Amino acid sequence: MRRLGLLGGMSWESSVEYERHINRIVRDRLGAVASADLLIRSFNFADIEAYQEAGDWQGAAEVLAAAAQDLVTAGAQAIVICTNTMHRVADEVEAASGVPLIHIADATAAAVHRAGVDTVALLGTRYTMEQDFYVGRLRSHGLQVLIPDEPDRTVVHEVIYGELVRGVTSPDSKREYLRIIDGLRDRGARGVIAGCTEIELLVAPSDVDLHYFPTTLIHATAAAEFALGAIDKVAESR
Ligand code: GLU
Repeated sequence: MRRLGLLGGMSWESSVEYERHINRIVRDRLGAVASADLLIRSFNFADIEAYQEAGDWQGAAEVLAAAAQDLVTAGAQAIVICTNTMHRVADEVEAASGVPLIHIADATAAAVHRAGVDTVALLGTRYTMEQDFYVGRLRSHGLQVLIPDEPDRTVVHEVIYGELVRGVTSPDSKREYLRIIDGLRDRGARGVIAGCTEIELLVAPSDVDLHYFPTTLIHATAAAEFALGAIDKVAESR
């Protein structure tokens, strides 16, 4: 089994879900007491959020790249960035690490294709919804991507930073998310990507009457498949 290097803590509320999903998949596949071979570097999210707020992506890239190099030195054979937003610096991290990076948007696009969906809504942080690193990557896989208009985009972003990364899930926020998803469905979305790793802690698949793509589960599954040797690159899982 391959050893995975996880860059987590962004936030830890979803990192623990990565660890849980990857270990469960490995146990289901290998049986008995088998579990995954993981290295986890969990950041202080306050430090990472400060880089985001300052728009200092270069600084964030340097911090994550150095951590990825440490994980490779410790034996990691692939890097998993356990957040959608910080894929903003995925190219820099992959280049510095010298090992494959299992990209969350590639794994998600593959899942959307498998469901037969071509127009998909994206909810996530403002960075994820508005910047090209994520939407552009989904489009490069042939997907049409819809994001909420304002002021709903701000609602989605603020619930993430004000509640979800702090371990708060509120019924009011869930109602707001479901209202926003309804609006995106009316604009033509046939599926919705929970494009922030904490959103699936608030909205479950059974809450949504569209195809639902929870990125923590999807990304953790791709990582586990790589660890088990079932795929060499995420693209091969399509
Ligand atoms: N975990 C979230 C994401 O998937 C947001 C927190 C962060 O900025 O990393 O984008």
